[in-house]
Amino acid sequence: MQTPTQTLSGDHIAAWLERAADELEREKMFLTELDAPIGDSDHGVNMARGFTAVRGRLDTLERGDIGALLRNVGTILLSTVGGASGPLYGTLFRDAGQKAAGAAALDLPALTACLEAGLEGVRRRGKAAPGEKTMVDALVPAVDALKAAQSAPQPAGARPDGAPTSRASMADALARAAEAARAGAEATVPLIARKGRASYLGERSAGHQDPGATSCWVLLRSLAATAGA
Ligand code: ADP
Ligand code: MG
Repeated sequence: MQTPTQTLSGDHIAAWLERAADELEREKMFLTELDAPIGDSDHGVNMARGFTAVRGRLDTLERGDIGALLRNVGTILLSTVGGASGPLYGTLFRDAGQKAAGAAALDLPALTACLEAGLEGVRRRGKAAPGEKTMVDALVPAVDALKAAQSAPQPAGARPDGAPTSRASMADALARAAEAARAGAEATVPLIARKGRASYLGERSAGHQDPGATSCWVLLRSLAATAGA
């Protein structure tokens, strides 16, 4: 358990990426099993390979500029994940990095803007709309949850003197985003895939959880844990 923080530094991002590599290694078989009935049984292997490569390069990557760090991670993912998800996750990190250019730390609004830019990149590249049984179905509710956390009034007693706090807690907002991604991934079960390999199955794709939406949840839950949730 880490100390809860209100901003994420480059060191936090690096700690997140290490944790994500561990989590994806642990969930490798689960993600690959989700990809078996509606794909080609490689999503867990693809993600674990990509994030293991990121972890192996972390010590060589600049951390003072979070934008540069995220862009470099995107480039590594582009060349190591493979499949349809490699270019999509690569774009997500590169576009998030573009948004964070020059930033030494991200507060909640900045982090929200980054994730939203990453989601827009995924949508531009993959042309998937919500409800088409892809990673977009986890990312959209996660971004919405981060936005809602910023506008939500703080609970009374959030501070010892009872005064309202000026910002939503980073850890709390990320826990909500991870929970929204989990619910979004689970809600892909009844959907018919309209994009990617699973779409070849047509109606037979219904009844299975989307692996890419599920790996988005794994990444967000790792981020929430890194922030102290
Ligand atoms: P492949 O399908 O090439 O084997 P992966 O198994 O690694 O690649 O990734 C499959 C995941 O990629 C899907 O579960 C889905 O979430 C995501 N995906 C595929 N095509 C798209 C798309 N056009 N837009 C968004 N996500 C997509
Ligand atoms: Mg696959």
